[in-house]
Amino acid sequence: MAKTDIKSMNEAEISSLLAEMGQPKFRAGQLFKWLQSGVGSFDEMTNIPKNLREKLNESCYIADVKIERKLVSQIDGTVKYLYKLYDGEYIESVLMKYEHGYTVCISTQVGCRMGCSFCASGLCGLKRNLTASEMLSQIMVAAKDNNIRVSNVVMMGMGEPLDNFSNSIRFLELVSNEKGLGIGLRHISLSTSGVVSGIERLKEYNLPITLSISLHAPNDEIRSSMMKVNKRWNIDALLEACKEYQKVTTRRISFEYALIEGVNDSERCADELAKRLKGIMCHVNLIPANPVKENTFKKPDKTRILKFRQLLEDRGVNATVRRTLGADIEASCGQLRNRAKEGDINANIQ
Ligand code: SAH
Ligand code: SF4
Repeated sequence: MAKTDIKSMNEAEISSLLAEMGQPKFRAGQLFKWLQSGVGSFDEMTNIPKNLREKLNESCYIADVKIERKLVSQIDGTVKYLYKLYDGEYIESVLMKYEHGYTVCISTQVGCRMGCSFCASGLCGLKRNLTASEMLSQIMVAAKDNNIRVSNVVMMGMGEPLDNFSNSIRFLELVSNEKGLGIGLRHISLSTSGVVSGIERLKEYNLPITLSISLHAPNDEIRSSMMKVNKRWNIDALLEACKEYQKVTTRRISFEYALIEGVNDSERCADELAKRLKGIMCHVNLIPANPVKENTFKKPDKTRILKFRQLLEDRGVNATVRRTLGADIEASCGQLRNRAKEGDINANIQ
């Protein structure tokens, strides 16, 4: 029989599991706290009786991720992790230092089935979903490895979080729990390529997270050429879902826009984008597209990027250019995993 993923359980579920084992209620809180503190084995749970620890060990496992490779940027200290999972799969996380603290960018799936043309994560399709416990572990391991407290999380690594909906929701519940990592939902961003059905479901939870939409184009022609998801839900459908989402949550929405030279960086594009975003309380994050070995996209030069930003600002759209971190360590998610599969990682390994 497959063992239970106990680290993905909330306290209520642990409580019923223990009740089935004839254990007193108060043990659920103790066990939950241990699991959410990142312990690697039941044996470390010193206030849990030995016979219960043994029983739990027979029926449950404590999920973990193992550091397989670690790349430290010589420019800004950004750390990129290649983690190995229990089944030999690889995922990536990035730890970034900002003025307000440490942010971890986590993966939500092994691979991705959305197949965006500019992205390294989607090249080989979806392998499997990550469990909530594997999402948590990425943060716990990075925090422990650097002896720091992580204050912000972005679900912007490999994978489409809304294509792994229930595990992503469970992750949000656990990561913000005061008995665990206690990272407030206001300090968490969830990025989606535009899975409208997922945005509609997420709206029902009315969470104070930041919803980040990978828009990348001002019209359907360009967007469909870059992102398959746009053929299922076009820009009108996506922006309509954003408006409905905002009505419920009253949260500002963040739009990601990766600037690719000659594709979506013209003045006309900026103009069209500004018109489209009218009526949505939002912020546009301009990202100079990160060249990926597997495609030929180029980022525009700096003047062009700043001009694009100015054009948006002039049209009343709040926009910033995202600071590029870890430029020397291929910090865009998906790139390192692909190298690992090719047996070709040798840069800056520590
Ligand atoms: N699947 C989700 C979250 C993970 S991707 C999504 O697509 O939103 C995180 C962000 O990185 C997205 O905005 C994505 O569009 C962007 N991205 C992917 N590859 C990139 C590249 N080569 N250059 C710049 N941004 C990229
Ligand atoms: Fe998947 Fe996001 Fe990459 Fe698209 S950009 S392939 S949705 S991870």
